[in-house]
Amino acid sequence: MNDWDLVLRGGRVIDPETGLDAVRDVAVADGRIAAVGPGLPPGAPQVDATGQVVTAGFIDLHSHVTDLGGLRLQAMDGVTTALELEAGVTPVALAYRRAAEQGRPVNYGFAASWALARMETVAGLPPDASLGAFMARISDPAWQREAEPAQVSKLLARLSADLADGALGIGVLLGYAPAASPAEYLRVAGLAAEAGVPTFTHARDLIEMVPGTLADGAEEIVRAAAQTGAHMHYCHVNSTSQRHVDRVLALVARAQAAGSRVSTEAYPYGSGMTGIGAAFLAPERLGERGLSPSSLTYAPTGERVASAARLRELREADPGGLVIIDLLSEDDPADQALLMRSLTFAGAVVASDAMPLTWTAPPADPQEWPLPPTAITHPRTAGTFSRALRLLTRGGLLTRGGLLTRPGPLGLAEALARCSLEPARLLEDRVPAMRGKGRLQAGRDADIVVFDPATVTDRASYRHSTRPSAGIRHVLVHGTFVVRDGGIVPDARPGRPVRAAPR
Ligand SMILES: [Zn+2]
Repeated sequence: MNDWDLVLRGGRVIDPETGLDAVRDVAVADGRIAAVGPGLPPGAPQVDATGQVVTAGFIDLHSHVTDLGGLRLQAMDGVTTALELEAGVTPVALAYRRAAEQGRPVNYGFAASWALARMETVAGLPPDASLGAFMARISDPAWQREAEPAQVSKLLARLSADLADGALGIGVLLGYAPAASPAEYLRVAGLAAEAGVPTFTHARDLIEMVPGTLADGAEEIVRAAAQTGAHMHYCHVNSTSQRHVDRVLALVARAQAAGSRVSTEAYPYGSGMTGIGAAFLAPERLGERGLSPSSLTYAPTGERVASAARLRELREADPGGLVIIDLLSEDDPADQALLMRSLTFAGAVVASDAMPLTWTAPPADPQEWPLPPTAITHPRTAGTFSRALRLLTRGGLLTRGGLLTRPGPLGLAEALARCSLEPARLLEDRVPAMRGKGRLQAGRDADIVVFDPATVTDRASYRHSTRPSAGIRHVLVHGTFVVRDGGIVPDARPGRPVRAAPR
């Protein structure tokens, strides 16, 4: 007799680390994987996984979601750990406390936030550990200006305190404060190197877009890695590079070959999303990125921004209001190929940049599921991982779902490694909890996704942004079902904090 809680029976178990890809049973006990093997003995409740892939749950390094509805969309996309690393939060201790009180369906963790720390130390704004606090001040020039030396010292002290509190790294929204000095950025990277944690950077403007930028955004990231020894993670290389992605990836490849630790991530969509008050969305600056006001769709009303005057009005009235930005054309084969090169770049991981829900009318019940049509987000929130798996393993077109079976550019194990194993490895030097994740092996955490490799696909679109992905059968977090038989388990909140080890 065994004391297992559950056996997933007869699935195709894929573990990219060991190379296992075979029909196996997987036993779960006490939140961990207790055994993996053929013909495990009976005695525990069973779930038939025949015809399904059983693998480690997806680890999203770039999720801004804190609301239950958004986290459920991510769980329905196979995500078992959703980390806020690019924007980060400061103070992190407060964010961990809030998440624990809230209770989450998936695991959570945070980087320290350079931007929020800068709002506090350069602009004197009261700190609050949320993306909302950043969005509310996104357009305020007071925090974007060049810092005095004493302010930089305070900023570094604030970030150090967050690292001591278990922050997973330092998130740097550098592209939102283009007057911040390259020297300051190097000091932040130096602090990360000293602490042994990565930085997660939203790059500064590229020189092709803004010839007068204080530094080329891509050069600056790889230079910081070379000069400080820090692990520099280059966030959403697809969206900040646009049609210069080949130049940026070649630069990163050279830095990696020279021994620098630079990693990248991408999401498979041609559009971005951020607060409409972002510095780079000022009407007079849109041309730098080949954009016009009508490249922007303001999420709260769904309107295409009609003119520069309307853009000014919206930026003034609601600077943190979320806006979808058409950067690459999803219908253009050349642009699609750019996105695929970002996704298939050596070592690149899949990361969603998932966004919180925007409500066009206040929700009657924030727990409501399925989400009502008054909830809006970027489709990447709901669909990034399923869409990446579809494109990487089955090929076909970005905008067309369905069951294409011509081979994609990667095998299933390699595609899955980019969703689970590689993100875990990227963090695990300083985060012991990550060594238990990203692997389907006995003794590791029972963060598991069970899906149909022939049908898994995104269903969220720009018009219907909260449609959950299809083909994800079961999702377990620490051995507890959060998705079962393709549906959300309403009361499941097994998510646990992921923190860096104390130094
Ligand atoms: Zn970003």
